[in-house]
Amino acid sequence: MIHRLSTLFVRTLRDDPAEAEVPSHRLLVRAGYIRRAAPGGYTWLPLGMRVLQRVEQIVREEMNAIGAQEVHFPALLPREPYDATGRWTDYGPNLFRLQDRRGVDYLLGPTHEEMFTLLVKDLYGSYKDLPVWLYQIQTKYRDEARPRAGLLRGREFVMKDSYSFDLDDDGLQRSYDAHRAAYVKIFARLGLDVVIVKAMSGAMGGSASEEFLSPCASGEDTFVRCSACDYRANTEAVRIGTVPAIDASGTPAARVVDTPNTPTIQTLVDLLNGRDDLRRTPSDASASGNAGAWSAADTLKNVLVMLRHPDGSRTPLAIGVPGDREVDTKRLEAAVSPAEVDAFGDADFASRPGLVKGYIGPDVLGEKKPLGIRYLLDPRVVAGSAWVTGANEPGHHVVHLVHGRDFTADGVIDVAEVRDTDPCPTCGSHLRIERGIEMGHVFQLGRKYAEVLGLQVLDEKGKQRVVTMGSYGVGVSRAVAAIAELHHDQLGLRWPRSVAPMDVHVVIAGKPGDDTGPAAEALAAELSKAGLHVLLDDRDGVSPGVRFKDAELLGMPMIVIAGRGVAKGVLEVRDRIAGTTTELPIDQVAAHVIAASA
Ligand code: ATP
Ligand code: MG
Repeated sequence: MIHRLSTLFVRTLRDDPAEAEVPSHRLLVRAGYIRRAAPGGYTWLPLGMRVLQRVEQIVREEMNAIGAQEVHFPALLPREPYDATGRWTDYGPNLFRLQDRRGVDYLLGPTHEEMFTLLVKDLYGSYKDLPVWLYQIQTKYRDEARPRAGLLRGREFVMKDSYSFDLDDDGLQRSYDAHRAAYVKIFARLGLDVVIVKAMSGAMGGSASEEFLSPCASGEDTFVRCSACDYRANTEAVRIGTVPAIDASGTPAARVVDTPNTPTIQTLVDLLNGRDDLRRTPSDASASGNAGAWSAADTLKNVLVMLRHPDGSRTPLAIGVPGDREVDTKRLEAAVSPAEVDAFGDADFASRPGLVKGYIGPDVLGEKKPLGIRYLLDPRVVAGSAWVTGANEPGHHVVHLVHGRDFTADGVIDVAEVRDTDPCPTCGSHLRIERGIEMGHVFQLGRKYAEVLGLQVLDEKGKQRVVTMGSYGVGVSRAVAAIAELHHDQLGLRWPRSVAPMDVHVVIAGKPGDDTGPAAEALAAELSKAGLHVLLDDRDGVSPGVRFKDAELLGMPMIVIAGRGVAKGVLEVRDRIAGTTTELPIDQVAAHVIAASA
């Protein structure tokens, strides 16, 4: 089919849109694929629509190939099922809630576990009906705190979500493996390299889950890969290995030290190293893993945050981490989800005068202490380890404070930052940190949803059994941006053939009335007859220079230029993917382009 630029609904922009933070966003707007319509909401223009539809089609084909069946739910959903599972509340401010004219509550679906569970419950009742795999490609709504980067994080976006229903755990494993394998194929066809990592389950609940991340500098997720074994995890899901307890029998008694003018950990460490009477002991040394002088790793930093729960209530949380590490906000958010994390503000300090800012120590922390602040420790703060920490008095610290002997906490929380070269929890080699875009997520949900919503079937012995479920998502609109993020150069987009909106872009680059127009038209007709989608730049009054620039920006895999060469019987063929430019005799061009597009 021939699509003429003279009538195609598209306008390219010379300048980058002001709000665009990443290349894909910049290029998709400049090349006229999408337009921003609302915060986190984008209009698909004809070229963008074609890419979206091709991505959807690849996803659909691979889902159908494993035997999943397509259905379609409304996006406007009733409150009750989401109340039953607690997600009406747990989703907190991320859920779009609304009311109809009678004042009845509805939501715009952020994901559809509840609805699929109820659908299967409605229609199925026997083990013989299982397994069944259902999916939809549908618009989802989430009131994201930070919509960003165009299609990468929208508040309205397209997702493929599928759900598996099985009688037993082996069945669930098979369903999960089938989806995982289908995802590997989908991302390969989309031209996206992905790394499969261990993940957290978040508001979804359930047990095992993995994410498909596309490595990319502008990705919002960070993940680790072990340099030696096959351990891979989202940093949110990294659990440091067990740290052995320490024998503190030789550690001196805890002692409060006057430490004036030590507002930072470094000033404190310098002061300690200047004091001959404050030698490090083996338990101090083993806590930080290095003998010799005191270092930031010998100090215990108590970080305070406020947790905002889905019901709006707020509770304080204190986290004790070795002073050489920060608390990683994303790891913390994932660990306390569905609660959200707020800073511990001046008002929070003011209402708790027992907290001495900058000198907070374990003495005043813990649920059973008068302040009632829940206190959790990094797993590195093992029993027997000795620490330098706040003495709850301005200008004072305590040294040799031993965990288990001198203080206790309410539990453990593994949310300290993960660093490049940290040891791998599986094999001890070095971890490497990379960034990526989350493209897909597969979950073994188990029986959580089926139990609450009463999805049971009769087993072979006539007994009611709760069904076990999996849920599997692909970010379809996000994929369009991720592909653009990966496939572009300084000139513009460079679509892989599998998703390009057109196969070839034919440019008329001569003067009105010369023989370039007829040559281009003839080629376009021949390519179209062979089944290719041809974008033909037949615009009036647009200079050849602008046409070349637009062709590069729009990013079709092949560009054919009918210019000065036509007089000599040749056309210029540019392969945007291979980055090559060749001149070919006019009568060979069609065969060349058709072969390359196959
Ligand atoms: P994220 O961590 O990026 O917020 P999520 O873990 O909340 O994503 P899931 O619930 O696992 O997302 O949704 C399945 C898939 O839908 C994700 O893997 C991602 O590709 C896509 N997706 C999720 N949120 C968005 C969004 N706001 N905009 C575009 N795509 C999204
Ligand atoms: Mg996810």
